[in-house]
Amino acid sequence: MWILKVPKVEAEKTRKKLMKRGLFDDKWSIVEKDDFVLFPVKDKMKGAFQGNLPPRNRKLSPYERIKKILNVPVNIPDYWEKIGDVLLLPPFEGYEKYGYEVGLAFSKILRVKTVCIYFGVEGELREPNIEVIYGNDTETVHLENGIRYALDVSKIMFSSGNVEERIRMGKIDAHGEVVVDMFAGIGYFTLPVAKYAGAKRVYACEKNPVAFEYLRKNIELNRINNVIPLLGDNREVAPKRVADRVIMGYVRTEPFLEVAMQVLKEEGGVVHYHDTFTTEEKAWKPEENVKKYAQKHGFEAEFVYKRVIKSYAPHIWHIVVDAHLTPKD
Ligand code: SAM
Repeated sequence: MWILKVPKVEAEKTRKKLMKRGLFDDKWSIVEKDDFVLFPVKDKMKGAFQGNLPPRNRKLSPYERIKKILNVPVNIPDYWEKIGDVLLLPPFEGYEKYGYEVGLAFSKILRVKTVCIYFGVEGELREPNIEVIYGNDTETVHLENGIRYALDVSKIMFSSGNVEERIRMGKIDAHGEVVVDMFAGIGYFTLPVAKYAGAKRVYACEKNPVAFEYLRKNIELNRINNVIPLLGDNREVAPKRVADRVIMGYVRTEPFLEVAMQVLKEEGGVVHYHDTFTTEEKAWKPEENVKKYAQKHGFEAEFVYKRVIKSYAPHIWHIVVDAHLTPKD
């Protein structure tokens, strides 16, 4: 390696010059010796000589730090989801035997109280399948975009893949609008729309009583007063002919477009239609589905937004389209 030796009085000037010109080699340390400072440099240059300097102490990543403190023979996962102060890890080989030790190491470095293995969600109510490997309390409060979401990760899902959509819902212009969230969960979209988008009122329908309790709690926790939570199946509890905007943040929602059309005001409004589609279908089917129900109810559809939210399964995509519906004349 090349080293540039300069008198201490010139050190600061030299350091700046080397940095500016991209000549400083940051893999190695700067060393002070007597009245001189030794700089590692990337290339031969005037006054430089060959020698050795100690490696620079790079900060270890959390993953490296976890590996460093762990003394059991397992390949730990290098990705995870942190929801509040609870951590979800994907299943990994050896978790049955060394789960506690691995969980303890993760909890120390990532400062979480509980560590779980996450196997996915099941059923219509999207209930998570998890196993706790360290700690015991799975209830937490997750802060995102200035909103506090209280939930129990052993009972309720929180999809990190939907973060962009949750943020987008806070940015839409819903000033003075009545909004119906047909699949509210714990308030994933209800809360950002109610807090940031200027909605006059948001009706939030949720049929899972556990999710509903958290929805209520989250409305309170965020001091929101323009949400009306409704417990039950949206086909029964969603108010009809009231909405300027309908949110359908779920999957397998096609038949529910029937409800959305009845929930919209007679003069129409916007439907945020989420669903899953195959690779072959994704270019046309979301629009086709909306048009089919719109036509039946005397609306015309104009599509103003479309995005793939995430990959749902191999060749299956979670897509959202925003349709602006107006009465056909
Ligand atoms: N958009 C969410 C996110 O950002 O993570 C994910 C979808 S959320 C889990 C969907 C919710 O719809 C669930 O809580 C489920 O219980 C609820 N649900 C399903 N069918 C329903 C129905 N017919 N009426 C009301 N709620 C329903």
